[in-house]
Amino acid sequence: MTRLYLSPPDVGPDERELLLDAFDSNWIAPLGPHVDAFEAEFATAVGMDHAVALSSGTAALHLALLLAGVGPGDEVVVPTLTFVATANAVRYVGATPVLVDSEWASWNLDPGLVAETLDARRAGAGAGAGAGTRPRPKAVISVDLYGQCADYSPLRAACEGDGDGVVLIEDAAEALGATYMDRPAGSLGDMGVFSFNGNKIATTSGGGMLVTNDGDAAAQARSLSTQARRPVLHYEHDEVGFNYRLSNLLAAVGRGQLRNLSAKVDRRRRTAEMYQKLLADTAGITFMPEASFGRATRWLTVALIDPEQFGPGRTRDDVIAALEAEDIEARPAWMPMHRQPVYADAPVVGGTVADAIFEQGVCLPSGSAMTDADVERVAAVVQRVAGR
Ligand SMILES: *Cc1c(COP(=O)(O)O)cnc(C)c1O
Repeated sequence: MTRLYLSPPDVGPDERELLLDAFDSNWIAPLGPHVDAFEAEFATAVGMDHAVALSSGTAALHLALLLAGVGPGDEVVVPTLTFVATANAVRYVGATPVLVDSEWASWNLDPGLVAETLDARRAGAGAGAGAGTRPRPKAVISVDLYGQCADYSPLRAACEGDGDGVVLIEDAAEALGATYMDRPAGSLGDMGVFSFNGNKIATTSGGGMLVTNDGDAAAQARSLSTQARRPVLHYEHDEVGFNYRLSNLLAAVGRGQLRNLSAKVDRRRRTAEMYQKLLADTAGITFMPEASFGRATRWLTVALIDPEQFGPGRTRDDVIAALEAEDIEARPAWMPMHRQPVYADAPVVGGTVADAIFEQGVCLPSGSAMTDADVERVAAVVQRVAGR
């Protein structure tokens, strides 16, 4: 039997045809018609006016923070339960990440905690002894974890506050194809960020996208991503830019992935449903819930293993080891940022929900090329560890 990976790339004839078209047209070097077309098609798919194709999701986060005017001395609220790239981008611009806990309903940023955090910090920065010396909250990066949107109505309200406008950046790297109240993931904040890394729901081997309704911001992002070169012949620059643009070859692959997006989401959702059905009678195993406000992509199916109820004394690590012995890849849920050595000094608000998800969470194989038989094979191993 072949090894089952967590979320491997899933490409087919569309990607091959488009890639060869890019190759044969000799538009190998950066930019070209596939980049423009990918941006236009992507913007339509996520319901935003502008999309800027970049070399990674991390680059898109970095540029989003620069466009939001975030810099040294500012604070940015990020979920403690996320992949490290979200918090790292805050450090790239010299700001401080404030790590906020998740809610159980979606496993994403707890909107109540975000409102409390922003209110307390607005008050601290603006009034009383030492007024103006405390860092000001400038932005919130909300993550749509494992393909499920955060709760954007209350998050937006918290960011609007009393009109001082904290910028809301949606890190939808894991959520292409998800919706929140029938609106597409990526369109729910002031800017949206996507990743086309090899394990994401749509891949270009590596790549990212920044989406916005603000034409000036999109133009600024394009400029910053190409060394901030002024539109003159002689290589003139009035600010420090980056080399963050997506290549034309990779954009061609991305267009193929987009054509097949809904089938990919449907397969991942079917996989999640199957795991839940097959393991419904196994004590001590529960799954990431789907919040009533949206439709998740189920980028990864994540199960919680409660060692008190599951097979005698068996933990999520035992599940991962048993799967590995059968040549099946599984991984723990994201380790919260407040437990990372690199963020040991970052301010934290709460953390018990993220801790519990990390301690018990296991991500099961969820790739869009999986078959029903593959899902059954994984579930059978999990059941065996549980002693059934
Ligand atoms: C994958 C991911 C990123 C980073 O994307 P890259 O394209 O790998 O740079 C950022 N945030 C989240 C939540 C991710 O899962």
